[in-house]
Amino acid sequence: MEQVKILIDLQEVMGQARRLDEEKQKIPFEVADLKSLFEEREASFLATEQEFETLKQQRREKEREIEEERDKVERAKAKLMSIKTNKEYYAMLKEIEGTRRTNVAREEELLSLLARYEDAEKRLAERKADLDEVSGKYRERMVDIDARMGSFDDDIGKLDARRRQVANKLDPSLVRRFEMIFERRDGLAVVAARDYSCTGCHMNIAPQLFNLLQREDRIHTCPNCNRVVYYEATEIEAAGE
Ligand SMILES: [Zn+2]
Repeated sequence: MEQVKILIDLQEVMGQARRLDEEKQKIPFEVADLKSLFEEREASFLATEQEFETLKQQRREKEREIEEERDKVERAKAKLMSIKTNKEYYAMLKEIEGTRRTNVAREEELLSLLARYEDAEKRLAERKADLDEVSGKYRERMVDIDARMGSFDDDIGKLDARRRQVANKLDPSLVRRFEMIFERRDGLAVVAARDYSCTGCHMNIAPQLFNLLQREDRIHTCPNCNRVVYYEATEIEAAGE
């Protein structure tokens, strides 16, 4: 069992290094995803902002027009008093009526503009909240990643030193074989055999081999998945001992 215990240690150390490395490899993709999400939200916000500004300007313009025409009506009304002839008087009245009617249409337009303006204003606030949320996450994650990046290589280096230390206790050819299985079996190279089956691939282990596992302190591998297997008592067996 001594060698197997060392192999279990080795697997643990190699597994940690592998997980760290995987985490590190994922970072550029994660950053790119966050960045593109941020840019998407930003573009959406800017487009809404543009729309909002345009509507705001149109609204002001319309309000100014209406105001001007109202003044015109007021001035014309004042002028009515000083008009001498009926002809001129009716012409002026007609003009006032025309201006009033145009203004009614303008007010309708203003109402529709106001509705669109308010809708854009609401959407703008939503887009702003979306953008703030994503940019907050983005910044937070980048600070986290920057801090993490510094320690990654450090941690991987430490694990590598530990891996060499553990591996030195074993025969180099066994280590090479183990590393090969580790790669092929996705980081699981040494597993328990329990109740006549391999816990790595769940295939049965012949009683002959299973008995050897119980008795011998030698390295045996599962005939199906090639993982190193070691004997582990089931709860019932353990209780019976
Ligand atoms: Zn197996």
